[in-house]
Amino acid sequence: MIPDYLEEVLGNVASDATGELAGYIPELAAVDPERLGAVFATVDGHVYSAGDVDAEFTIQSISKPFVYALALADSGFDAVLGKVGVEPSGEAFNQISLEEGTGRPFNPMINAGAITVHSLVRSEQLAPDERVARVVRGLSAFAGRPLGVDEAVCASEMENAHRNLAIAHMLRSHDILTEDPRIVVDGYIRQCSVLVTTRDLAMMAATLANRGVNPLTGEQVVAERVVRQVLSVLSTCGMYDAAGDWATQVGIPAKSGVSGGLIGALPGQIGVATFSPRLDSHGNSVRGVSLFERFSTDMGLHVMEVPAAARAIVRSNHVAGSGLREVRVLQLHGGIRFAGAERIDREVVDTAPSEPRVVFDLTMVSSIDDVARRMLLEVARRLRVEGREVYLVDPEAMIPDPDPGDGGRFEVVDDLDQAVSLPHEVVARNGRPGAREWNP
Ligand code: GLU
Repeated sequence: MIPDYLEEVLGNVASDATGELAGYIPELAAVDPERLGAVFATVDGHVYSAGDVDAEFTIQSISKPFVYALALADSGFDAVLGKVGVEPSGEAFNQISLEEGTGRPFNPMINAGAITVHSLVRSEQLAPDERVARVVRGLSAFAGRPLGVDEAVCASEMENAHRNLAIAHMLRSHDILTEDPRIVVDGYIRQCSVLVTTRDLAMMAATLANRGVNPLTGEQVVAERVVRQVLSVLSTCGMYDAAGDWATQVGIPAKSGVSGGLIGALPGQIGVATFSPRLDSHGNSVRGVSLFERFSTDMGLHVMEVPAAARAIVRSNHVAGSGLREVRVLQLHGGIRFAGAERIDREVVDTAPSEPRVVFDLTMVSSIDDVARRMLLEVARRLRVEGREVYLVDPEAMIPDPDPGDGGRFEVVDDLDQAVSLPHEVVARNGRPGAREWNP
């Protein structure tokens, strides 16, 4: 189904020959402008593709978010944020503009920011060529296979790097760069000349979508906190000066490059990549943008569109057993975050269970984040304070350490029958808890 869909949308955009090849790097102006490919890579490593997905091209600016991730991982947030901001500049990618006063580049996706970021990959420990090697290895880890450099494109760009050199000299004059600007630009251009396929790009995007874990190799390439930072910056600054249109119409954190690649990372779902070399006036791939617009609409991929899930979190709330052996069972369901945990809390407050035993059944819970875990344990702790015996049915250890913070771990059992039929302790019953005590 998905490969057919991809073929169909490629067919829809194929005849669009508008846009121009990137002319300022002579080698890039020589590529076949008709190339067209699209790949979806799921967070569990499945790849759907159509078109020229194994043709290699240079990564160019799509390297920026990944090298930003490496710099954050290597030098830490404070060092990187001290030198490069996170504000959209609203200007073209190669604008020679820096923040007034500090001389800091506005963000890591414009060239000034990306050149600075390159210098922050293991800045202290590494000589420039080792730093480039670290960058190539890091990009390879995101892609899940060893990547090489296109020496011809690299040399061609280096010969015409006047503008990037001017930017780097400006950065040096503000002490944002502390080394020879030519060496940093040389390294940055090698970073841009790393060869990738559309398939590689989709896997790199899927690694971002998969909280920093490469879906193929299972390697945690960078920490989750770094991924959050990168995706946030992509959603505001990823598409050059077209970021606002993109955020509203497509709504997928994305990055484009002048060689015609385009990636999008949809957190928790998929990585998407397209390749088509002709560019619009912003420097974004014309047919790539059309493809992403279609993907977003056809497949409901806008990040701001979320399912109405919280209602289904408490799947059932019923009483099992009878008399003094009555057990209140709350069957929970799906992925639980703050709003889901709030729903559970409210359910307990509203029903104010009077049964001596309360069971939270987590068998059907697929994930529960840290905040929701703590909230659920607090709901359970309050029930215990009210004199209820609380059990968790948690065969997959969704809550590995069910301690609400007072040292009194809740009893965990593997199935509901066990929780219902276990002999009851003699529990001190304080009577039916009133809403006041539950909602102070
Ligand atoms: N190497 C290119 C430059 O710095 C990358 C630009 C891009 O892909 O947007 O000019």
